[in-house]
Amino acid sequence: MHPARTPRIAVVGAGLGGLTCARVLQRHGHPVTVLEREASADTRPQGGSLDMHADTGQAALRSAGLLDRFHDLARPEGDEWRVLDPATGALVARHGPTPDGGRPEIDRGQLRGLLLDSLAEGTVRWGRAVRAVTPLPDGSCRLLLGDGSTEDFDLVVGADGAWSRVRPALSSAVPRYTGVTFLETGFDDCDTRHPGLARLVGNGSLLVKGAGRSLVAQRNSNGHIRAYLALRAPEDWHRTGGVDLADRQAVRDRLATLLDDWAESLRDLLRTSDHGFVNRPLHVLPAPHGWEHVPGVTLLGDAAHLMPPVGLGANLAMLDGADLAHALVSGAGIGEAVRAYERTMLPRSAEAATGSAQGLDHLVPAAAG
Ligand SMILES: Cc1cc2nc3c(=O)[nH]c(=O)nc-3n(C[C@H](O)[C@H](O)[C@H](O)COP(=O)(O)OP(=O)(O)OC[C@H]3O[C@@H](n4cnc5c(N)ncnc54)[C@H](O)[C@@H]3O)c2cc1C
Repeated sequence: MHPARTPRIAVVGAGLGGLTCARVLQRHGHPVTVLEREASADTRPQGGSLDMHADTGQAALRSAGLLDRFHDLARPEGDEWRVLDPATGALVARHGPTPDGGRPEIDRGQLRGLLLDSLAEGTVRWGRAVRAVTPLPDGSCRLLLGDGSTEDFDLVVGADGAWSRVRPALSSAVPRYTGVTFLETGFDDCDTRHPGLARLVGNGSLLVKGAGRSLVAQRNSNGHIRAYLALRAPEDWHRTGGVDLADRQAVRDRLATLLDDWAESLRDLLRTSDHGFVNRPLHVLPAPHGWEHVPGVTLLGDAAHLMPPVGLGANLAMLDGADLAHALVSGAGIGEAVRAYERTMLPRSAEAATGSAQGLDHLVPAAAG
C-alpha cells in the first residue's frame, strides 16, 4: 500500500459484526465501505431476540458509542428462563436474571437498525454480492462482485456469515451439519391472542428439554413470541419423511407424532402458531478454526467461527468487529493490526466454539439408544 494514501477498507456483509466494525472505524475517522448482497435493509426479516452479554456484545456497543441507545431499546426483564418438564408441562426450574450486570434482550432487527442508523450516509452499498476474493502480490486484495466487476482494497474484512465467499482466500474449511435442526415458528399479539403461551414464557424464555427434541420459546418486542423446536434429525428429515414445510398442517401433524410423549398442553402450543415453519439446519465450522495470516484479508463473526447458536455468535461477531476496528485505528499499520486482532480473536473463538458445542448437546440431549 502507498504509505501516504488513506487505506481502502471493505467490509463484506452488513450483519451485526460487519456493521460494528464499520461503526467503530468511522467513529475514529477512518473511511470504510460495506458491501452487502441484499438489496436493502428490509429485504428479509432479521429474526428473533438476542441477549447482549456485558463482556462481549455490550462491550462492543460501548466501543461503538451506542450502549445508551441500546439500553433504551433493550428488555432487561427478558433475561429470565423458565424450564418445563416435557411429560407433565410443570415448571421445574427458573433461572435469571444473570448477576454480571444482566443480559438484556433486544430484537435483532432493532439492533441492526441501531448500527445502520449510526453509519454515515452511503456507507453500506446494498445489492453488492461478493463472489470471490483474490489477495494480490502487493498485499492488497481484489473483490469480484456479482455483476462481474472488480474492486481493489487494502483490506477486505469477510463479515459475510456462515457461507462466506471471503473465507476461501484464507482457509479451505467448510461448515458441517451438527445433526440438529431448528424448526422455527412465531406467535403474534401473544398477551391477547395466546395468553396461555404468554404466561408460560413470561418476560423471557421458555425451555422444554426432551431426548432429541427441545423447545425454546422467546418473547420479542410488541407481544411477539418466537419458538424453535430443536430436533436431532438428518438434515433432510422433512424430505425423507415426505413433509412439505410450506404445508403448516402437514408439519403440525408430524410434530404431533414426534412429540407424542409430551404433555398435551405443550403439544397444543405448536398447533396454534400464527406463522409457518422455517427449517434451520445448524452448521458449524471445525473448532479450532484458524489460518496463516494473509496480507489484505481477514474474517470476523460467523465467517471466522460459525458455532451452534447457544447465545454467543452475535455477541462474538460484534466484539470481533470492535476489536478489529480498534486494532486498525491504533496506528500500527494494517498488517500488524490484523495480525494482532487474529492473535486475540482466534483462540477466543476456539474456546467459545468448544463451549457452544457442549451447550448444544446440553440443549438437545441425544435420544437414548
Ligand atoms: C436461530 C438462531 C438463533 C440465534 N440466537 C443467538 C443469540 O441469542 N445470541 C447470539 O449471540 N447469537 C445468536 N445466534 C447466532 C448469530 O445469529 C450469528 O452468530 C451472528 O448473526 C453472526 O453475525 P455476522 O455478522 O458474523 O454474520 P451474519 O449475521 O450472518 O451477517 C452476514 C451478512 O453478510 C451478508 N452476505 C453474505 N454473503 C455475502 C456476499 N457474498 N456478499 C455480500 N454480502 C454477503 C448477509 O446478507 C448478511 O447481511 C443465533 C443464530 C441462529 C441461527
